[in-house]
Amino acid sequence: MSSYPPSVPPQTTPQTTPLRQRLADLRGPAVPPRPLDARALAALAANPGCGRRALLDGAGVDKTALATALGSPSAFGQSQFAIVRGNSFEAKVKGDGGAELLRLVHEHLGAGAEPPGAAALVPDLTAAGPQGRAARTALALREATSAGAWTLLDHPMLALEVAGSPAYLEPDAVVVHPDGRWTVVEIKSFPMIDGGADPAKVGAAARQAAVYVLALENTAGKLPGAAVGHEVLLVCPKDFSNLPTAAPVDVRRERSVTRRQLERLTRVEELAALLPEDLCFDPARPAEELDRAVSAVPAAYAPECLAACELAFHCRQRARAADEVGALGRSLRAELGGLGTVGEALAAAAGAGPAEDPTAAALRQAARLRAEALALAPARTPSEDSACPC
Ligand code: SF4
Repeated sequence: MSSYPPSVPPQTTPQTTPLRQRLADLRGPAVPPRPLDARALAALAANPGCGRRALLDGAGVDKTALATALGSPSAFGQSQFAIVRGNSFEAKVKGDGGAELLRLVHEHLGAGAEPPGAAALVPDLTAAGPQGRAARTALALREATSAGAWTLLDHPMLALEVAGSPAYLEPDAVVVHPDGRWTVVEIKSFPMIDGGADPAKVGAAARQAAVYVLALENTAGKLPGAAVGHEVLLVCPKDFSNLPTAAPVDVRRERSVTRRQLERLTRVEELAALLPEDLCFDPARPAEELDRAVSAVPAAYAPECLAACELAFHCRQRARAADEVGALGRSLRAELGGLGTVGEALAAAAGAGPAEDPTAAALRQAARLRAEALALAPARTPSEDSACPC
């Protein structure tokens, strides 16, 4: 174990006072800002079209408390059982000084390098507060890169500037290769069966890892010889056992989307400027007032929100009440083009849409085929109807 002296915390650009004040007013003057974590930043990338989420996250609003105050508490988040299981698996993967984890990184992403031996470094990253830990991590990365030895950073702290404020992020691990490459390691407790895992869970892990890659790039850009790998290592239990297995995941696409989203967050001032001056998302306010405030910010609800955003139940309710096609899925919304509501789509299918619109023409054709198929089908008896599971 090597130790590192404390050093100067990373510098960040402070928000301009009017923006800071405006965000505080939106959050509620007495409400402390909720810091952004990697999950929240990754979720932004999962729904890049949602101005509501961008504004609320940019203002540091506690969306869990807001959803509860709106009467639609979120069921989003990990169960206690899943958290305990995840922690136990992570401890197993990192046991024995990280030997197994380093072996997996070398096996999947360390082509050409000497295998990590007993000499691999595991620096002590403890320090006071997130700023101190981020500074200690930056120093450890610098020393490991110049040492040219396999180094495992267990729960390093990374700083990423978001909308003018630092967000502190804690990946499961970062491995420094002897050639100066840095690899993000994500340890998850969902199983990898026959080398594959649930694509939705892998996608969520990739978006989260992409946030860490962006944060690491800030540090790597200042160090000669350092580079951040765009392939991260996903470590999961193998099949139905508790043994670790791993697969590299290319996060270039997720990294690009997340970077665009973060740039969009820096324009949170523009989103706020479109809203009434007295708008406030303080969860202590009455539900009707909060409902009006939330409704004033445009959203882009899709069923995917249910797995990524605390406001999903509220937004789903409103999307359904407004007859929005987005509530039926993003692919359907994309296929229906300019038809924004289910009523408009049904009217187009019935022949009310513009004759030259290809979407309306396709819907008319589909409605005609459906009518023909129903006319040809034998009539169903009442007993068949009652037996139908639909
Ligand atoms: S649940 Fe609502 S606020 Fe959250 S991402 Fe979806 S539409 Fe946006």
